[in-house]
Amino acid sequence: YPLVARQAAPHVVRISDVEFGSDEFVVIAGPCAVEGQDQIENAARVVQSLGARVLRGGAFKPRTSPYSFQGLGLEGIELLRRASLKAELPFITEVMSVDQVWELEPRVDAFQIGTRNMHNFELLKAIGETQKPVMLKRGFGATLREWVLAAEYIAKGGNHNIILCERGIRSFDPETRFTLDLAGAIWAKQETKLPVIIDPSHGTGLPELIDPLARAAAAAGLDGIMVEIHDDPDQALSDGDQALTSRQFKTLMSNLAPIVEAVGRRM
Ligand code: PEP
Ligand code: MN
Repeated sequence: YPLVARQAAPHVVRISDVEFGSDEFVVIAGPCAVEGQDQIENAARVVQSLGARVLRGGAFKPRTSPYSFQGLGLEGIELLRRASLKAELPFITEVMSVDQVWELEPRVDAFQIGTRNMHNFELLKAIGETQKPVMLKRGFGATLREWVLAAEYIAKGGNHNIILCERGIRSFDPETRFTLDLAGAIWAKQETKLPVIIDPSHGTGLPELIDPLARAAAAAGLDGIMVEIHDDPDQALSDGDQALTSRQFKTLMSNLAPIVEAVGRRM
């Protein structure tokens, strides 16, 4: 891995003024999907007031079923942009195609590459041609080597602003939605110079496992987490089963704080 392998200093990636891979442990939070103006603005307010640093929300959604809600598209990006300005938080959102890269580049603070697109090499190359920070999720069937080589594709184009995100791999066990590979995330942190975060929401699909895994990530020296929240999970248009309510998210943030402090970092 000539470009992303560990060098003397770890690489710090900035989304606006938020640093990944420095002494910050960064919490990214927001709904799975942008559903409307009130929903995303309320979520942004919660995210900001509880001390998370980056807003997330999907406008282009890679749904398993073509009959499920596919996201609000460009309108969703506009709603995200407004919510993010109001709450004074940068935002990240998923990009699914090469065309969307050029369309969204001037409109978003950071790109997310989802698990289903980790192997989309044309998409990786297009993002490599920008300087936009990008969070690269591990494919749920990808080896660690394939994940790091996907990052290498982006870096080879000249964009080194890459954050790796472990979001769970598919295993034989049906009790959790996916199997969050914490060991794999720690391996990636040790083997590359890139910041590494985990997504325990998709990684487990179970709200009650998100908080302990967030603390495990901080204790292990990883660089942050991304979690999904919703003010009314039963009514959510996607991933409601794994969404944290504001109250649960507040508990997570207060449980996380002492661990982050214990490892000499800040939130
Ligand atoms: C998401 O973050 O909402 C998402 C679709 O994630 P993943 O690509 O990990 O499934
Ligand atoms: Mn989701």
